[in-house]
Amino acid sequence: MESDSNIEALRAQVRAWLARNVPAGWRAAMTGSEQDVFVRAQREWFTKLVEAGYATPHWPQGWPGGGRSLAEQKVIYEEIARADAPRLILYFVSLYHAACTLMECGTPAQRDRYLPGILAGEIWCQGFSEPNAGSDLASLKTRAERRGDRYVINGQKIWSTMAQYADRCLLLARSGRSGPPQAGLTYLLLDMRSKGVSVRPISQITGDDEFAEIFFDDVEVPLEDLVGAEGEGWAVAQATLASERGLTLVELSQRMRYALPLLGAAMREAGRQGDAALRRDLGRVMAKVDGACALADWYLLRRISGEEAPGDASMVKLNYARTLREFTSLGLRIGGLQSQYHRGFMRGATQETGNWMVDFMNSYNWSIAGGSDEIQRNIIAERLLRMPREPKTWQVPEERA
Ligand SMILES: Cc1cc2nc3c(=O)[nH]c(=O)nc-3n(C[C@H](O)[C@H](O)[C@H](O)COP(=O)(O)OP(=O)(O)OC[C@H]3O[C@@H](n4cnc5c(N)ncnc54)[C@H](O)[C@@H]3O)c2cc1C
Repeated sequence: MESDSNIEALRAQVRAWLARNVPAGWRAAMTGSEQDVFVRAQREWFTKLVEAGYATPHWPQGWPGGGRSLAEQKVIYEEIARADAPRLILYFVSLYHAACTLMECGTPAQRDRYLPGILAGEIWCQGFSEPNAGSDLASLKTRAERRGDRYVINGQKIWSTMAQYADRCLLLARSGRSGPPQAGLTYLLLDMRSKGVSVRPISQITGDDEFAEIFFDDVEVPLEDLVGAEGEGWAVAQATLASERGLTLVELSQRMRYALPLLGAAMREAGRQGDAALRRDLGRVMAKVDGACALADWYLLRRISGEEAPGDASMVKLNYARTLREFTSLGLRIGGLQSQYHRGFMRGATQETGNWMVDFMNSYNWSIAGGSDEIQRNIIAERLLRMPREPKTWQVPEERA
């Protein structure tokens, strides 16, 4: 266990590094900017963080920046949030979803091949959802057909975050049709530059295009890019989702905490510091944000100590999503009509920016991405509280019927 003085020394070191390195005016590179400006800014910041060892505190020992204790990880995330450093929107899936899946379920050869690529700036996307398979993910239809030493992929994915920039995709596809729907799923690492891959970005109401559809037309994936066993991709997907629902929120909860002054500033700007109802709601949001940070830390501790239980990550995500919604809707209320004015968007669904209308719309992301609030409630009820399972409502895919 590290001493308080070691932790405070790390804090001082991270804080000083951030003071020297956070690029001035980084928001301009993300606010309605050209794509190449955004990508360059993200890449430069990612490279700096990796070199300093602050991008991967959640990776295990033996990897650059990895092997940090709970207290050390907290300090790094807290300081990054306190400095309001750029969010690694483009590298989120690479650093968390892909890396954590490879650490947990990949072969040593896959880790040796892909983790250095991630550290060098390779961008990954997640190809799980399909037009008729979101909450009911196991009913997905994209096919992975084994032909000799490779799989051939045909089908379509949707809502794949930042897929238009991605080098690689975490792909969940159907390779078998017998047994329950989960049984025939296979998890593959797909090269987005392969022949037969096409990507179509989706324009959103916010003005951003943070997701894309991906189409696969006879795309070949070599056998060595299979994660876990053929037909057992559902279990691998659970590792990806646990990282998405729990681990990513350690930093994001701290971001929300350090953004609380935005609400105070909005009250001053609107001349509403004396409004008793708003003050009460501000107090409530502050307490909830503290609670969200504590819950995310609790999850991290469970993970580090190998005590994570199914449903833990769902609790963290559900609570975070609700808290973020309350935070941003309070911002919207404080400013009244003024705050509903749309002042441009920042690429990549950034959250607590004080551009309340966009922040509020973006807060809904977390009630849907990685499984909706309703699905998290089902998971908590069934896996954590051991309540009876909900009746089967999923549809049998057409070709299975
Ligand atoms: C910001 C964002 C980023 C995303 N990024 C990715 C990505 O990178 N890769 C990827 O693969 N996907 C991604 N997604 C997609 C996301 O995983 C799905 O949108 C989500 O799982 C919900 O699926 P759906 O949109 O098909 O809604 P549906 O499944 O059609 O659900 C519609 C509504 O019905 C409710 N519902 C459905 N089933 C039940 C049930 N059994 N019990 C109670 N209520 C139910 C849902 O809660 C929801 O309110 C992203 C989504 C968002 C918003």
